[in-house]
Amino acid sequence: MKTQYEGTVIYEKSAPGRTGYTLPKTEKSEKEILDTIPARFLRENPAELAEVSEPQAMRHFVNLSTKNHHIDKGFYPLGSCTMKYNPKLNDVAASFVDFREHHPLAPCSTAQGLLHLMFNLKLYLSEISGFPGMSLQPVAGAQGEFAGLLIMLKYHTEKGNRRRKILIPDSAHGTNPASVNSVGYDTVELKSNEKGVIAPEDVAAVMDEEVAGMMLTNPNTLGIFETHIKEIADIVHEQGGLMYMDGANLNANMGIFRPGDVGFDIMHFNLHKTFSTPHGGGGPGAGALGVTEALEKYLPAPVLSKSDDGGYYFDDDRPHSIGRLHSFYGNFANIVRAYAYIRILGGQGLRRVSENAVLNANYLKELLRDDFDLPYDVHCMHEFVLSGNRQKKSGVRTADISKRLLDFGMHSPTNYFPLIVPEAMMIEPTETESRETLDYFAEVMKQIAREALENPEKVTSAPHNTPVRRLDEAGAARKMDVCFLD
Ligand SMILES: *Cc1c(COP(=O)(O)O)cnc(C)c1O
Repeated sequence: MKTQYEGTVIYEKSAPGRTGYTLPKTEKSEKEILDTIPARFLRENPAELAEVSEPQAMRHFVNLSTKNHHIDKGFYPLGSCTMKYNPKLNDVAASFVDFREHHPLAPCSTAQGLLHLMFNLKLYLSEISGFPGMSLQPVAGAQGEFAGLLIMLKYHTEKGNRRRKILIPDSAHGTNPASVNSVGYDTVELKSNEKGVIAPEDVAAVMDEEVAGMMLTNPNTLGIFETHIKEIADIVHEQGGLMYMDGANLNANMGIFRPGDVGFDIMHFNLHKTFSTPHGGGGPGAGALGVTEALEKYLPAPVLSKSDDGGYYFDDDRPHSIGRLHSFYGNFANIVRAYAYIRILGGQGLRRVSENAVLNANYLKELLRDDFDLPYDVHCMHEFVLSGNRQKKSGVRTADISKRLLDFGMHSPTNYFPLIVPEAMMIEPTETESRETLDYFAEVMKQIAREALENPEKVTSAPHNTPVRRLDEAGAARKMDVCFLD
């Protein structure tokens, strides 16, 4: 028998005349009230709303919210996405009424407290990364990359350099080549060596005066620390190029490694990943951008500044700036969450976050190494990459393993990325998971590995106990239909 809560559409629960609210009493009649609304705003027909009681509505939405997977419900080891638990306190701070209701067009004189928070977040991010120039304007990691590459372009154009190439490792996130393309540069791909890192001699072999710069992710998307940064940066700088770091994986670096100290010139943060904003549903991001002192003049305008008398203002007098990235100034709620996160943890706390992220990843890697292929068998940072090659021999693909994980209430690792690992499973447990959760995940993965040998059908037909089975994921994105009523 179906439970009373089944069904995803609230209209199916509707009964005429049932309500979940009462309006305050008023002296006026309904007609008198309606007469106060201009005719052009009045409906011709009553709205077709579900008629349900308050508990019905509440149960409906609570049940609906658990049909999908999310971090508040279960483990989410989606590599490179840093799906860590987001402390609710940061959400409380982001929804303070003075923050939430401040109008973005209000003059700076009425927003000094908000600007103080933003200005201090810039200082903290500078301290964490080693970059003195900082902008909170980009609203995604990818937009940070785009802005950083525009800065490279402007820097070279002002010098009279006509360069057109950017070096990118074969393990780079897909947004890197896409950003390069958007700016109008061409990508030159560099192969990772057998240790999973970029070798200086491979950079030297392609570096010339046509190359505007290099983009490097560190730790890279194999979860491995790039050990030759200093030498690589020297090679690129010697020929007049700039070094960009994709800082989306900063969760492994905080308090340990400062990109600005080792030869990088530009870096974006993913505040929504590292500094705890719920993300992954396409919600607003924050991709703060750090640069060296020499590149500060190119930062997106306006620049949040502090005057001699201590007041904050937006400086639009920036003749070398790449310009404005979008309306207003960043995603303020994300900025508040990042600020709260940093203030609550402090410097030592941030370092412990990174240490525990690395410890958890290595612990899990050791638990799983006998059951899956481990193509790059080195000490990892915050994540590691397994291959499902062994399981593929019995007809079980990485995507099947991921679907089977859903039966145990866990999200899958990142699949088929990085591209250089066949049947890749990129696993990032994050620092917020307990040892029990990591042990449980490993136990389930081991069971799935056994099933792949003994009963592959069980895995290839998964998931078995989710509200829906296998979906046409590409079709769902391309032909979105979220309307119940025709
Ligand atoms: C997530 C990620 C990005 C892109 O960030 P968005 O905010 O999704 O645009 C870029 N590089 C790496 C390594 C990432 O993990």
